[in-house]
Order: sequence, then C-alpha cells, then structure tokens
Amino acid sequence: MASLQLDIVTPDQLVLSRAVDYVGAPGLEGEFGVLPGHIPFISALAIGALHYKAEGKTRYVFVSGGFAEVSDDKVTILAESAETAENIDFARAEKARKRAEERLAQKNEAVNNIRAESSLRRALVRLNLQGKN
Ligand code: ATP
Repeated sequence: MASLQLDIVTPDQLVLSRAVDYVGAPGLEGEFGVLPGHIPFISALAIGALHYKAEGKTRYVFVSGGFAEVSDDKVTILAESAETAENIDFARAEKARKRAEERLAQKNEAVNNIRAESSLRRALVRLNLQGKN
C-alpha cells in the first residue's frame, strides 16, 4: 500500500531508505507535505523535524539544512546532518544547547551569533524529538 520511496542521505551515510505513505518536511519557506502522485518539486530545507507515515505509524527524523527533491513518487532528502529520533544522543544535544546559550549570553563581539543561533536551533529541535518514534 505504501507508495512513496523516502531516502535520506547525508555526506556521511544513508540515514533512511524505505517505502512510506506520506512525508512532511521542514522547507525553508515552511512545512510541506508529499503524498503519492505529487508533482516534481525541489525545496531547500530548514533545520527541523521531518516526519513520515508508514505502517500506520508516524516517525520523526531530525534534518539540518540541505535539499528535498520529489519526483516519480520518490522523496530524496540530501541533508547536512540527519538522525532518526531513536538515534539522537539527547545528552549531546543538551550539552550543545547549553554551549550555544552560553555563547549567545556572552554578547561578545568575537562570538559568531549566527553560528550560535543555528547551533541552538539544532539542539532544540533534537531535544524536542525525545520520546518520539
Ligand atoms: P554538536 O555541537 O554536538 O556536534 P551540532 O549541531 O553542531 O552538534 P551537526 O553539525 O548537526 O552537530 O552534526 C555533526 C555530526 O554529528 C552529524 O553526523 C550529526 O548527525 C551528528 N550529531 C550531532 N549531534 C547529534 C546528536 N545529538 N545525536 C546524534 N548525532 C548527532
């Protein structure tokens, strides 16, 4: 019954490759959903949580930047980093959150705020996936 092929790839590894019924992904211009029969489409990805439905369950995958391509009932995610919710190291994300918050609190000229803000965003999205999947 599932009829979309979802592949999530990072520079390091193939994170996920499976048949699914639906994909919801964090596009730079907002969340978008893909059902079978979707028109061909490319979108840049934001830092966020992708979700998909398969075998009656919704599952979550952290994605950080990159692109999504949809064509011929295939959804290909090329992300800078990605982890399925069960593979997220929450202690590491908590440390990253603290580090980023400390950097932002310093208001130091030398601190690259944009970097610290995206680091914080990655940590918060990861932490938000605790208990999901
Ligand atoms: P950190 O500061 O802890 O490295 P980060 O947000 O800077 O976090 P990324 O640049 O997004 O890390 O990812 C670098 C690599 O580490 C990627 O392969 C990513 O999948 C992995 N990674 C980062 N944080 C986690 C985590 N909390 N759990 C599992 N893998 C992680």
